[in-house]
Amino acid sequence: MIPYSCQDISEADVSAVVSALNDKMLTQGSSTILFERAVAEYCGAAHAKAVTNATSALHLACLAAGVGPGDFVWTSPNSFVASANCARFCGADVEFVDINPITLGIDIDLLAEKLANAKTRGGLPKVIVVVHFAGQAPSLGSLETLAERYGFVIIEDASHALGAVYCRQAPDKKKFKSGGTVGSSKKSLCTVFSFHPVKMITTGEGGMVVSNDSSFMRKIELLRSHGITRDDSNFQRLADGKWYYEQQFLGVNYRMTDIQAALGLSQLKRLNQFVLARREVAANYYDSLAPLANFIKLPPRRFHDFSSYHLFVIRLRSQFSYLRGRLFDYLRSSGIGVQVHYIPIYKQPYYESLYGVNTNCPEMEKYYETAISLPNHTKLEKIGRAHV
Ligand SMILES: *Cc1c(COP(=O)(O)O)cnc(C)c1O
Repeated sequence: MIPYSCQDISEADVSAVVSALNDKMLTQGSSTILFERAVAEYCGAAHAKAVTNATSALHLACLAAGVGPGDFVWTSPNSFVASANCARFCGADVEFVDINPITLGIDIDLLAEKLANAKTRGGLPKVIVVVHFAGQAPSLGSLETLAERYGFVIIEDASHALGAVYCRQAPDKKKFKSGGTVGSSKKSLCTVFSFHPVKMITTGEGGMVVSNDSSFMRKIELLRSHGITRDDSNFQRLADGKWYYEQQFLGVNYRMTDIQAALGLSQLKRLNQFVLARREVAANYYDSLAPLANFIKLPPRRFHDFSSYHLFVIRLRSQFSYLRGRLFDYLRSSGIGVQVHYIPIYKQPYYESLYGVNTNCPEMEKYYETAISLPNHTKLEKIGRAHV
């Protein structure tokens, strides 16, 4: 079976891990710091903190943003459940904003309407978790304007989008320009990445929070490690001796090991190559699937040079949506490991039991009935040839 995505491990990656195993520190050592610096630099952000996975990164981000019971977090229903669960970990409530049928992320016009309603009725969000679906980051401009007007902060779930660039519409509205590397935004509170093996680079399990806000990142660092500080300039009490440390609030242990960080650091060197390889697979799909235009819709190609293409999602035209299940089964039985991204989060039994049946996301419903993710990863061509 050709998987929809998979890791790409080189000899150099293996050596980096072996050498990390021989280091003095297996955790809280120098590899983690080097990996953090390298990711921050790659993204053009001031700070980065490595954690156990993107789910814990989202959890920490919500905690450090002050999310708690009584708060609302809004996100896209077209994502992995972790984009919503991070709010629930903090005791907050989640609301879903319907997707735009082209970008497949939160629809900005609907969001603006929903915010205006929430302002009069109550229930404005503290945080909006924006998801860079499939590796395609939106232009954040209009979202930033709304954030200023309604007083919420932006957390970018860029689990799909390490190595992607924000796409900015030129003033003539026709052309798109690069708006900088994903993670560099100064107006978002932070950006979160995943290093799960299906994502752009891997550390086995792993994640990262990057941000340009130093006081926010200080909170992330403390929360990641039990809420403990060893920095005597921040102590609330007089130190008892050199062994002294202080737990100042309740934190967790979400630290990444140095073994994982060494792998991440080595993988990061090939990230640009990985992105180009995935774009090439996508370009092949655009060319070879073009004759099926009457039956399927392909992702908008104008984002091609900006996307990291974690996913390549095709959609059956609506009159053929009844064939989705059969097409999916046919492709699977032909050895093609297709997937569906995503089941609307609000349809999960957990969320239905909390909030009832959601009827506010018609575009998400239509999308979900027609979507199939085709394999896209760096080894695809090789596997494909081996199959023939
Ligand atoms: C993979 C993924 C996550 C969770 O990442 P983990 O590192 O597996 O915790 C969160 N959000 C999105 C959009 C993802 O694709």
